[in-house]
Amino acid sequence: MSYQVSPVGFVRSCFKEKFAIPRQPQLAPAARGVLELVAPFDQGEAVQGLEQVSHVWLLFLFHQALEDKPRLKVRPPRLGGNTSMGVFATRATHRPNGIGQSVVKLDKVEPGRLWISGIDLLDGTPVLDIKPYVPYADIVDAATNAIASDAPPLIGVQWLKAALQQAQGHAQRLGEPLVELIEQCLAQDPRPAYQVPTSEREYGVRFWDVDVRWHYPEPGMICVLEVVPAG
Ligand code: SAM
Repeated sequence: MSYQVSPVGFVRSCFKEKFAIPRQPQLAPAARGVLELVAPFDQGEAVQGLEQVSHVWLLFLFHQALEDKPRLKVRPPRLGGNTSMGVFATRATHRPNGIGQSVVKLDKVEPGRLWISGIDLLDGTPVLDIKPYVPYADIVDAATNAIASDAPPLIGVQWLKAALQQAQGHAQRLGEPLVELIEQCLAQDPRPAYQVPTSEREYGVRFWDVDVRWHYPEPGMICVLEVVPAG
């Protein structure tokens, strides 16, 4: 048996590639985007009342990780990428039906547009449904998860003076908290856990329309080298 679903909208996100997106929502409050609703949901009626809500659940498709053959076990990056686990014990992107869920902050509501932050969503992500967060039902005080008990530890992020000035300039141009976005995402230490970075090795990612480059001057410390218009 199969059912058909279709997106109610698509996310325009600060994240232009999968690399360096936080593993869960809320880890980078400066990660912002706009959920653009499609017809018929782009009419004001569909979001009437939503301005009374601070956070929403988004159900979405991992559109850049869809696979034909379902996996029963996955290797979550959180466990270093070399321990496998039942797919239903994880929030891995490779999963049956490719459905993700994130609680995000709702900053502004307009007919056809929701301004959201604290996102972990790639640009272009198709959203299947939007539901208000209901604190009395969704907060579970007694909940435990021994696989992911705490937020991932943060590492230090420092800047070359010129890189910070570049980021501040682009932040002003974009009207976005770009310095905070870079600090919050890089503090999650986005490199694959199996890679031990030498100080010569440079990493890069695109946020909005800029390329950010960094290296690890010492283990557990990032230095941002450059923030330049995307090439
Ligand atoms: N909070 C969601 C959940 O629990 O279902 C997503 C968790 S998943 C571990 C987060 C990762 O999904 C991000 O780090 C990013 O690399 C990836 N991602 C986000 N949007 C995606 C998309 N549209 N297609 C494929 N991967 C995506």
